[in-house]
Amino acid sequence: MSGPNTSYDPVEVAALDPAHLEQAVTDALAAFDAAQNLDELKAARAAHQGDKSPLALANREIGALPPSAKAEAGKRVGQARGTVGQALKKRQAELEAERDERILVDEAVDVTMTPGRRPLGRRHPNELMAQRIADILVGMGWEIAEGPEVEAEWFNFDALNFDEDHPARQMQDTFYIAPEDSGLVLRTHTSPVQARSLLERGVPLYVGCIGRVYRTDDLDATHMPAFHQIEGIAVDEGITMAHLKGTLDRMASELFGEGITTRLRPSFFPFTEPSAEMDLRCFVCRGEDPDCRACSGTGWIEWGGCGMVNRNVLSACGVDPDRYTGFAFGMGIDRALMFRSGVSDMREIIEGDVRFDAQFGLEV
Ligand SMILES: [Zn+2]
Repeated sequence: MSGPNTSYDPVEVAALDPAHLEQAVTDALAAFDAAQNLDELKAARAAHQGDKSPLALANREIGALPPSAKAEAGKRVGQARGTVGQALKKRQAELEAERDERILVDEAVDVTMTPGRRPLGRRHPNELMAQRIADILVGMGWEIAEGPEVEAEWFNFDALNFDEDHPARQMQDTFYIAPEDSGLVLRTHTSPVQARSLLERGVPLYVGCIGRVYRTDDLDATHMPAFHQIEGIAVDEGITMAHLKGTLDRMASELFGEGITTRLRPSFFPFTEPSAEMDLRCFVCRGEDPDCRACSGTGWIEWGGCGMVNRNVLSACGVDPDRYTGFAFGMGIDRALMFRSGVSDMREIIEGDVRFDAQFGLEV
């Protein structure tokens, strides 16, 4: 900026020269028009309207003019700046509209597009069935116990009244743990938990056990080398078979529908005396359809084994069999799942196909 100058001739100040101002305006308008986006416009604005632009320089020169020249020069610079300001505003609006238009296109959402689906996992139907049975037992005031899958032969057989050379030891085709004299087996049933519970918890005892058991069966549609059982044992003073029947009927009703009961047929197990097989009233036809596929028209479905705890088992576990009596029952969970949900091939239960879990994992 020039200093105050009383003998000043505005025409000699280049920044205020009309032609110069006009050129500055022309340059500014051309630059704004040439800007293709808001960033370019910003740069053009800095060059033509910013502090170091020709027009800003001219504006500052006005201050140094003699009063007589200020008005005219001020008017000229003001008009030039007004023109540039309006052009900038107009171009700014145009470019912003273009940007908004582009965003609408670029960021458009196709509401008709098929979304990518992420299937939810399901709990295994076996797990659900086991939990439901456990809930029923707990609802009756029972406890849930667990035992090891690698079990002492003593708990798996001896404590349960299997003789040393009892055919059941071979009959059940047991997996023995190496070496041969380790005294350990993969438990062939959940019944060892009966003996363990009696020893650990004493009497009175109301305990359910759910777990995996092993037998050397080949895998086919109706056999698995590893499957799941639920076992229950109640030992107290004055327990009779009526308590057993009532408990089984309650479980059957809860699991398969109100009014579904059980019946007992004489059988034999070393650890119960008397022993019985238990059948479930067919929950599909309730015994009224001779062509029913679920029960083959018999009206009954085989469900498991049960009986009064053998007094030898009570004695082996330190319980006085003259004072206490008890009942026990056991049933296959996989098998219950098969006839409950119409699964015809057991292999489907363990193959881990997520479609199987999705089908039965919501509600057993
Ligand atoms: Zn039926």
